[in-house]
Amino acid sequence: MKKEDFATTGSGHVIHLNAFYFCNLQLQKQAYSDAVKEGDFVAGTDWRAIGRHETGHVVANAYGIDSLGLIKEVLKFTSIADVFYHLGKELSIYSAAYNDGREIISECFSGYYSKVGNKIADAFVSRCLLVGKAGEMDESL
Ligand SMILES: [Zn+2]
Repeated sequence: MKKEDFATTGSGHVIHLNAFYFCNLQLQKQAYSDAVKEGDFVAGTDWRAIGRHETGHVVANAYGIDSLGLIKEVLKFTSIADVFYHLGKELSIYSAAYNDGREIISECFSGYYSKVGNKIADAFVSRCLLVGKAGEMDESL
């Protein structure tokens, strides 16, 4: 884990918390809040969204969610450049940080489960819930 990471998800479902932040709640609250002000994370979220974010990675791994495919469907954009530009402006800069889209579901989980009213997060997670209801889960898990 990089020292600036609040947490990471490994082995598909194991969430690692950064002791530097999680042992000093005031520091963590301030660092997360500063990142939100910079647009790095979803507007309106607070430090508690860190766990929600990591849970997004777990769900993506468990269900094999194709975040890029789903976000293109949700946003109705065909250009991936348009998708990332829109995500960076309307969801969070971090959601558009990787070309493979790995942070999209996590930032959407952060916004949706923090109940901050982010339209992209709400639409994306609602679409993800349909994946689970359709029974597309990998039964080997
Ligand atoms: Zn992440």
